[in-house]
Amino acid sequence: MSHGTENMTSIRNYKTNGLTELPRVASDLLTALEHKIILFRGELGAGKTTLIKELLTQLGVTDDTSSPSYAIINNYKCRDSVIYHMDLYRLNDAQEAFALGLEDMLYSGNYCFIEWPELIIPYLSESYHLIDIIMIGHEERKVQLYSS
Ligand code: ATP
Ligand code: MG
Repeated sequence: MSHGTENMTSIRNYKTNGLTELPRVASDLLTALEHKIILFRGELGAGKTTLIKELLTQLGVTDDTSSPSYAIINNYKCRDSVIYHMDLYRLNDAQEAFALGLEDMLYSGNYCFIEWPELIIPYLSESYHLIDIIMIGHEERKVQLYSS
């Protein structure tokens, strides 16, 4: 799971036991973020979407984020700007992501939260963060924040 983080700096590390600890982690993560592009890695069900939804809430998104969404790209209104949430799980290659307008989102200066980002990592030229969520037990997670 640490693969791809060799040239990145680990800047935060959390261990959580249950969903109730997520707001604390999200608010601390927000104080640590230096870049707008944030990649979320972790196996199926690790909690990527759950953490992103908590971050959206704390960033002031008032759109309903509670319904499960199967869209590859979601836009959320946040005060005067937009936050992009992408889930690239069902894409076959990076070209499909670029065909969906990935580049415009990455360079928009708005937050881009990206699940299953592995395909596009080699094409990123902007600075970005990586968040690894590692399942330790049913309720336990390790959350690691890296900066490029
Ligand atoms: P996918 O790869 O399918 O997109 P995901 O990583 O986005 O999965 P979520 O959909 O966020 O995973 O979470 C799946 C379930 O795991 C949630 O319904 C929730 O019950 C549980 N879960 C999520 N985050 C945590 C957490 N930090 N601690 C404990 N349980 C969690
Ligand atoms: Mg998800």
